Amino acid sequence: MQQQKLESLTHPTSPLKRKSPVRGLLAMALLPLFGMVTAYGIAPDTNTRDIPVQPLIQNLALPQLAANQGETAQVFHHEERVLSGETLGALLTRLGVAQQDTALLLSQSAAQIGRSLRSGQRVQAEISENGDLQELRLTGPDGSLNRVSRQADGFVLDQPQAVLESRIVMRSGRIESSLFAATDAASLPDSVAVKMADIFGTQLDFRSDLRKGDTFSIVYAMDYRNGEPTGTGKILSAEYVNDGKAYRAVLYRTPSGREEYYGPNGESFSKGFLRSPLEFSRITSGFSNSRLHPVLGFHRRHTGTDFGAPTGARVRATGDATVAFAGRKGGYGNIVILRHRNGIETYYAHLSRFAGGMRPGRSVSQGDIIGFVGMTGTATGPHLHYEVRIAGQPRNPVTAKLPGSPPLPVAQRQHFKEQTAAWTRLLDQLRGTNLAALD
Ligand SMILES: [Zn+2]
Repeated sequence: MQQQKLESLTHPTSPLKRKSPVRGLLAMALLPLFGMVTAYGIAPDTNTRDIPVQPLIQNLALPQLAANQGETAQVFHHEERVLSGETLGALLTRLGVAQQDTALLLSQSAAQIGRSLRSGQRVQAEISENGDLQELRLTGPDGSLNRVSRQADGFVLDQPQAVLESRIVMRSGRIESSLFAATDAASLPDSVAVKMADIFGTQLDFRSDLRKGDTFSIVYAMDYRNGEPTGTGKILSAEYVNDGKAYRAVLYRTPSGREEYYGPNGESFSKGFLRSPLEFSRITSGFSNSRLHPVLGFHRRHTGTDFGAPTGARVRATGDATVAFAGRKGGYGNIVILRHRNGIETYYAHLSRFAGGMRPGRSVSQGDIIGFVGMTGTATGPHLHYEVRIAGQPRNPVTAKLPGSPPLPVAQRQHFKEQTAAWTRLLDQLRGTNLAALD
């Protein structure tokens, strides 16, 4: 039972996959490091507010295949992924299906299911001791399900009703080389990793601020269809420990239904200036040779900060603003200048092109895409030149004091605490197990 749970929790590429009794024990001890899954019984349409908080560690696996009811014959459950270029026949042979069943199935259903076979697709088979195929389930990338089941007169193919679930997933990890290497090791979807970078985007630049040994813990909600994740997930609480300093965020839903991230005491950080004008992604994070220090730097006689990034990488407004200028300007090449409150301006130069509708007077929100990295004007390679000017003077955006937005009103604090207590508790729990494993 324990072994089965572990199997299902293990990332396919993780070293834990190799099994031996010793490895099994080791794996158990390391489990929180690689990610722990906590599932709750939740209806698919529940919103985060209604999710019960009593944790119950469950199997991450797909809906179980039908139980072997009352029979004494042994039935084997296999779960595999379709290999690249694999045919249905080859797959059945690999699963250990008896030859006559393979032949029968190929003659009956090959056309329907063989055509849809894709590399990486999840396959579950239930096979009796003598190789008789009882049931075969093929889950598509979108979670659609094809089921082949044994009947008196051969095999029947059908598409059973989808099992929809919403799960609360808890993951943690430690930075060794890059954020994505760590999130991959923790089986964290890219969409969630990028959201974490966004949430902490006013405090940390995940390209330049990352340090080896940083840790993260994330509690998020994800929808599943027949065991395959659908959608991008929603972070409920997260902690990132950067260079020994802990940053925490919890999702707060106001009484009016608006959702925003706050610090544990209601401090707002969704409205300061973003630390990086580049959208965080695998492309921008991996661009520099030195992954942890990709920013070329703010230096004397250079009025801004250069961010190395490939042509076409998305550039975003670091704060709410109106467009002051969008066009060509000498050595800057294609540049967008945004005017913020309190006499602050931001410059985004050498762009290959502008986002649609970038004209003076237009208002943009923090995080909006305003253009794309290029090398127009005076530039030896594609990069983004970014400037922050206060009262017309260029300032170092890392050290300049930029206005944030006010914390939650005191009157709302009690509601905030009640609303977020569950996610904070889960984060504490996850962090506790994580630290124990890391020490
Ligand atoms: Zn520059």
